[in-house]
Amino acid sequence: MSPLAPWQQRVLDKALASLAEGRLGHALLLVGPERLGKQAVAELLSKRLLCASPGADGLACGRCRGCQLFAAGTHPDFRGVSFIPNEKGDKLRSEIVVDQMRELGQWFALTPQLGGAQVALIHPAHALNTAAANALLKTLEEPAPGRYLLLVSDRAGVLPATIRSRCQRLEFRLPARGESEAWLRSQGHGPQALAKALDAARGHPGLAAHWLEGGSLALRNEVQADLNALADGRKPPVELAQAWLGDDHAALRLRFAAELALDGISARLAGTPAPGLTLPGDFQKLSAWFDGINRARDQLRVPALRHDLALAALLLEWRSMFKDTEAARAGR
Ligand SMILES: [Zn+2]
Repeated sequence: MSPLAPWQQRVLDKALASLAEGRLGHALLLVGPERLGKQAVAELLSKRLLCASPGADGLACGRCRGCQLFAAGTHPDFRGVSFIPNEKGDKLRSEIVVDQMRELGQWFALTPQLGGAQVALIHPAHALNTAAANALLKTLEEPAPGRYLLLVSDRAGVLPATIRSRCQRLEFRLPARGESEAWLRSQGHGPQALAKALDAARGHPGLAAHWLEGGSLALRNEVQADLNALADGRKPPVELAQAWLGDDHAALRLRFAAELALDGISARLAGTPAPGLTLPGDFQKLSAWFDGINRARDQLRVPALRHDLALAALLLEWRSMFKDTEAARAGR
């Protein structure tokens, strides 16, 4: 059985067919939602491009010197570009910087050491800052035989149009429900758990698998139960805020809270109220609350802020939205 998921295989097959027909671009942009395995396909394709004797199946042989060096992570004609440490060296930068792209341009000008292709893989490409993107553009404008540049991104819209327009696009798409279910079953997940996870992930198999494996689906259910308990006064906002922020899962809880609210908004717009989360009646306040939770999640990155106070205020707001609804009903 192929180690690739079917949606990965489709993209790889398309790229290999282009290569066989001599139509594969020198710059490739692998795009699509996160957690669909874009990086894995980019690596398989890189390995194939560097292989000295590819098989009849179009894939790398796995035995030649190039394949062995690639597997060992020491192929001299392959470059993986991602975040590097900052100047102090105490953490990784949050963007890919111009020096990295200048160096890449110089490296591309060298003769390949193994006499074959030269491949660079940039991931995540949307992290290129403006100066880095401009430097990369110079490399893209001078394509040469046997030099390949693979860009991987789940936010390709952020990339400058000048870069996007010079790349051949390899698009990863969310598969149909049946295919996602079959794949999750093949990963060893039970039918009920996988169906719930797929619903929660809005049909995204990679996200569903991630949640199932990390126990995150249980966390999402907890957040939903907490919000319901908050709504009918069974949990006090201040204590709940402290509990939500009390461990490493704070950001994920806020993400789930925002998603649950958004699901509720979408369901109400569609006229099909979703089961699970009890929603307040005021649509505008609910939308504002959704924005507030997303802001609170962004601000978790700023250590100096009193996150507990901000979150307690939001949770109190959630509670009061129900009091308003109850009061409106009682007054009627
Ligand atoms: Zn090989």
